[in-house]
Amino acid sequence: MAKNHPNHRFLIISYPIQGHINPALQFAKRLTTLGARVTFATTIYLHSRLVNKPTIPGLSFATFSDGYDDGLITREDTNIVSYVSELTRCGSEFLKSIILSAKEENRPFTCLTYTIMLPWAAKVARELHLASVLLWIQAATVFDIYYYYFHEHGDYIKNISEDAIELPGLPFSLKSCDIPSFLLASNPYTFALPSVKEHIQILEEEANPRILVNTVEKFEYEALRDVDVGKIEMIPIGPLIPSAFLDGKDPSDTSFGGDVISVNPEDNYLKWLDSKDELSVVYVSFGTLAILSKRQMEEIARALLGSGLPFLWVIRDTKSQKQKEEDGHGDDDDELSFREELERNVNGKIVKWCCQVEVLSHSSIGCFVTHCGWNSTLESLGSGVPMVGFPQWTDQTTNAKLIEDVWGSGVRMGCDEEGILKAEEIRRYLEVVMGKGEKGEDLRRNAKKLKSLAREAVKEGGSSDKNLRSFLDHIGCVSD
Ligand code: UDP
Repeated sequence: MAKNHPNHRFLIISYPIQGHINPALQFAKRLTTLGARVTFATTIYLHSRLVNKPTIPGLSFATFSDGYDDGLITREDTNIVSYVSELTRCGSEFLKSIILSAKEENRPFTCLTYTIMLPWAAKVARELHLASVLLWIQAATVFDIYYYYFHEHGDYIKNISEDAIELPGLPFSLKSCDIPSFLLASNPYTFALPSVKEHIQILEEEANPRILVNTVEKFEYEALRDVDVGKIEMIPIGPLIPSAFLDGKDPSDTSFGGDVISVNPEDNYLKWLDSKDELSVVYVSFGTLAILSKRQMEEIARALLGSGLPFLWVIRDTKSQKQKEEDGHGDDDDELSFREELERNVNGKIVKWCCQVEVLSHSSIGCFVTHCGWNSTLESLGSGVPMVGFPQWTDQTTNAKLIEDVWGSGVRMGCDEEGILKAEEIRRYLEVVMGKGEKGEDLRRNAKKLKSLAREAVKEGGSSDKNLRSFLDHIGCVSD
C-alpha cells in the first residue's frame, strides 16, 4: 500500500471503553499503513489491559490517569457523571501537555482525532490551534437522527407518537423503537445526550465542518449525503475492523482488535468451532456493556438448548471484583441455575470472552445473536454472518432497524409487555435464520453481498480507502 503521508503526526484519543477504543485503534492502524505516525492517548488502566500490545511501526501509546488505574468504570457505577467530569479535567490537561511538548520538541502533531463523548478534546485542539476531527463511531444514520432532533426539538423526545416518523434525508421512516434510546425522556443515562449535543455545536462553529464516519458508503448512502443538505461533510472510512479479517489474508493477525479488556485464553473455543460443521453454530454475545436480566438469560438458555443447535455464548462477568466482595462471594452465582445445564451440554460452549472478529470469520458460524452494537454489527457484516438482533439501548435500536429493514441481513426480536423475550420466540427466530427456508436463504445471500461491499470499501482504491487518503491530502498541517 502506498505510504504517501509521512508528514502526518496524529494524536488519537477515545473514550476508554472497548466499543470506542476498538475502532479508534483500527483507525490508528490504517493511518500507519499510509505512512502517518500516530500517538494513541489512553488511560493507564486500558493500556495495561491491552492484550497483545501491538508493535506497529509508527504507532506509540501515551497514557494518563483517569483516577481508575486499577479498574474500569462500569455502567453500574453510580458516579459516572463525576467520572466524566474527572476524565474531562485530567484528559484535557494531558492533551494540552502532550501537544505543547511535541511542538517544543519540533515534531508537532498535525491532527487530533477524538471519538464521541469527548467534546473537550476538540476544545483543547482549538485552543492550541491544532486541526482536529471527530471520528464518529456509530452509524451515519444515528448522527442524522441526533442532528435532526437537536435542530427540531433541542431536547429529549417527550411524547413520541406510535406513528412512523419521517426524517429528511433518511429513505425510511422510524418508529419509536428505532430511535436511539438516549433521545427518549425515559433514558436514565442523562450524561450522554448533552455530550452529543456539544459535539454537534462544536462542529457547527467550524468553517468547513466534517467528520470521519465508521461506515461504508454503500451501506448508508442517503444518510451520509444528508445532514441538513451537506452542512456537515460526512466521510465514510469504515468498516474499522482488523483488516486481517476483512481481506481474509492473515487471520492470525489478531494483535490489534477485539481483545482489549479481557481474554480467557484457556477457553479453546476456536478448536471447538473447528469441530463443528460449516454454518452450524449460533454465536451469542451482547457486547461489553449490556446487562440482561437473569430471567432473560434463562429464556435464551432454554431457546438454545431447545433448538438443538450448537452454540458459542459469551457470558461476561458483569460484577466487578469489588461488587463480588461486597456480596460476600467470589462467583457470579446469579447465573448458576442455568449455567450448569448449559455447560453439561456437549453441543454448546460458554466463554467469558472471545476474540469476536475471529469467531465471526470462522466458517462454522451460522448466525450471530447480538445486541446490535455498531462494532458488532460491522464485524458481522464484514464476515457475512446473518444477525438475530436483540437491541438493548443507545444506538442499538437504530442499528437493528438498518439490519432488518434496510440491509435485510438479519431479523430483530421484540419483547413482550413485561420486557421479556420468551424462549419460544427466540427459538422461532433461530429456526428461520439458520433454516433452509426462503427467508434464511435471503438473509445469507444479503449478508454475503454486504460482506463483499465491506471488503471492497477498504481495499486499496475502494471508497473508504480513497476517502481516508483524500482526507489526509487535504487536512492542514496547522489549524484549518
Ligand atoms: N468483543 C470481543 N469479544 C467479546 C465481546 C465483545 O472482542 O467477547 C468486542 C467486539 O468484537 C466489538 C466490541 O467488543 O468490537 C463491542 O463493541 P460493540 O459496539 O459491538 O458493543 P458495546 O460493547 O460497545 O455495547
